[in-house]
Amino acid sequence: MRKPIIAGNWKMNKTPSEAKELVTALIPLVRDAACDVVVCTPAVDFAAVKEVIDGTNIKLGAENMHWKESGAYTGELSAAMLKECGVEYVILGHSERRQYFGETDATVNLRTLAAVAAGLTPIICVGEKKEEREAGYTDALVTYQTLTALTGLTAEQVAKVVIAYEPVWAIGTGLTATDEQANETIGVIRSAIRSVYGDAADEVRIQYGGSMNPKNVKGLMAQPEIDGGLIGGASLKAEDFSKVVLYDR
Ligand code: PEP
Repeated sequence: MRKPIIAGNWKMNKTPSEAKELVTALIPLVRDAACDVVVCTPAVDFAAVKEVIDGTNIKLGAENMHWKESGAYTGELSAAMLKECGVEYVILGHSERRQYFGETDATVNLRTLAAVAAGLTPIICVGEKKEEREAGYTDALVTYQTLTALTGLTAEQVAKVVIAYEPVWAIGTGLTATDEQANETIGVIRSAIRSVYGDAADEVRIQYGGSMNPKNVKGLMAQPEIDGGLIGGASLKAEDFSKVVLYDR
């Protein structure tokens, strides 16, 4: 049995004081969650968030990291920097990083290897654009993205990563993949992992992401392949995010 994992992706939202206010409101609401609960925040919020989530069931995540240990990479953050701030998860290869910041499957792989080596759990984002789905490329694309990201990991390491299947056309648009579409593509991702890493595929948690909210979470989470969600817009309000986290109530 895979333990579901629901993670918020705050993107470029919330100053440290706003972050503190949000997690302070969230803590009592999600205290009894049956799933793992993660908030992936801007790096400037780490200290404020960490201070209030310590001793609770909420874990801290980052939204990106560089693969080098240190050096002349202005504006970047290393895995060691994240670790020392109390970060346990890191989103890698989000479609916004791919679209606006030149992220490629090759650099997602480098980041994944560095994150795993440092003891961080990567949340690796894969997913097709609208025109790619319409052209029938979805399965081939998510297979390629997933296997490229994981290249160089052992099956034991692969078993512990989290994958987020995020159809790009569903992110921030209010459009959601149907429960069946999401389940089917996540099944394709799991089969791809099985073809290289065998039974580790049964342990990898694969989230759905793309306009997941309190209204549609139940149907998506009822699908057998879907092990959680990566939540953008609905993670910015404590009440909405808590309703997603408590999808089983
Ligand atoms: C995301 O950014 O990962 C995401 C899924 O955003 P939203 O929930 O707003 O579509």
